[in-house]
Amino acid sequence: MPTSVLWFRRDLRLADNPALLRAAAGGPVVALFVLDDALRRAAGPNRLAFLYRGLRSLDAGTGGRLVVRAGDPAAVVPAVAAEAGAGEVACAADFGPYGRRRDEAVAGALAAGGRSLCRVGSPYAVEPGEVVKADGTPYQVFTPFHRAWLARGWPAPAAPPDGVRWHALGGDGIPEDPPVEAALPEATEAAAHAALDAFVAGRLSGYAAARDDPGGDATSRLSPYLKYGLVHPRQVLARLGRGDGAARFRAELAWREFYADVLWHEPASAWSALRPGMDAIEFDEGPEADRRFEAWAAGRTGYPLIDAGMRQLVAEGWMHNRVRMVTASFLVKDLHLPWQRGARHFLHHLVDGDLASNNHGWQWVAGTGTDAAPYFRVFNPVSQGRTFDPDGAYVRRHVPELAGLSPRDVHEPWKLPAGPPAGYPLPIVDHAVERKEALRRYGQATPST
Ligand code: FAD
Repeated sequence: MPTSVLWFRRDLRLADNPALLRAAAGGPVVALFVLDDALRRAAGPNRLAFLYRGLRSLDAGTGGRLVVRAGDPAAVVPAVAAEAGAGEVACAADFGPYGRRRDEAVAGALAAGGRSLCRVGSPYAVEPGEVVKADGTPYQVFTPFHRAWLARGWPAPAAPPDGVRWHALGGDGIPEDPPVEAALPEATEAAAHAALDAFVAGRLSGYAAARDDPGGDATSRLSPYLKYGLVHPRQVLARLGRGDGAARFRAELAWREFYADVLWHEPASAWSALRPGMDAIEFDEGPEADRRFEAWAAGRTGYPLIDAGMRQLVAEGWMHNRVRMVTASFLVKDLHLPWQRGARHFLHHLVDGDLASNNHGWQWVAGTGTDAAPYFRVFNPVSQGRTFDPDGAYVRRHVPELAGLSPRDVHEPWKLPAGPPAGYPLPIVDHAVERKEALRRYGQATPST
């Protein structure tokens, strides 16, 4: 029976893997992962360590037969296919701008040798490009996309294949983890399912009400597992059932699919404003702008919720969604720095760092993206803290200098008679002043549609 190659990319799992089913149906399977420098350069140490740990787990799942090779996929994949005598390479489709270009190059190189690249499945419940309006054009707004996405539906998870025959080939091995400061989650398929089980059994029912409380740990923390496909959204969706919590959680998964869809239709929106004209907003640069950026990145702005979020990002390689929004807004609208600069910083640290969700999350906050928040919505870091972290538990956990403050003082420590506790900075800007300045700048850059 012919051997085929299964090329793993961001789908590091054996269960519910359509490309694996396709490859295994033909005979023995070579499990391949390509260490592609173009992607490795874009990932910070947290994501690389999580990836390498995921690869070690996948290697164990294939009986030690995962073939890891370093190089350009357009050279490595055809070489491995030739070495294995495989006519077909199966993989899940990639919808990002780089992945699409890479896969076209690989498909071309395989075709030149009389072989084919077979794209089966994707990292999404519904593939980008599938949910369109009646006239065939893409949705620009989340709510109708969500409705159409729900109506379209998705298949149930597939049963795992029986007794895959993994075919061994030599490889370069899985690299050592880079040094990481952050406490990362365990990168195995079993750990992903344990996290899903625990969430469904516990926090899911209260998710709708509690998801915005950053100190409450009420969300699923599945994002790194979804990012690397240790669990597929189909597998998650199949577990949700009914109720407000389930409906709200399905909607959050739909945001992930919406942003992937937007990026698929508009690849340039990865790093440029989606809304025409909005790249014209005036931003600051120079040494003072750099100093402010550094204070933001280090969690030393003097605004407790901002500082707690930025420190959580470094400590855990993850940040709560509400705080991602508030810290992003602060960078763009209080410090007047371009969203791309913050997006790059997030992508460096986030273990779930994903181009579509991250950069469109940033564009949403900056008011330059699809479904954009109105530009005059400027998050107030103090009232956001008081509303979503009323007892200050989240701030106290991540900003030890403020651990002794009462819920009343913890979000405005500069108002204490003796000023903020030792070692904690005064606010680097005045929010009320910068809000007005942001409105002035945004008012000048009117979107052309
Ligand atoms: P849960 O609340 O448990 O949600 C479940 C899943 O739904 C998440 O794992 C995620 O896959 C999806 N999801 C939830 N909210 C969103 C959202 N707003 N947009 C897209 N998908 C969502 N998410 C990433 O996966 N990678 C990123 O790089 C990323 N960067 C972001 C940057 C900014 C500025 C903002 C505002 C949001 C970003 N998000 C990103 C979305 C969201 O913050 C995270 O998905 C969420 O915090 C992950 O934690 P969780 O798994 O506990 O989420």
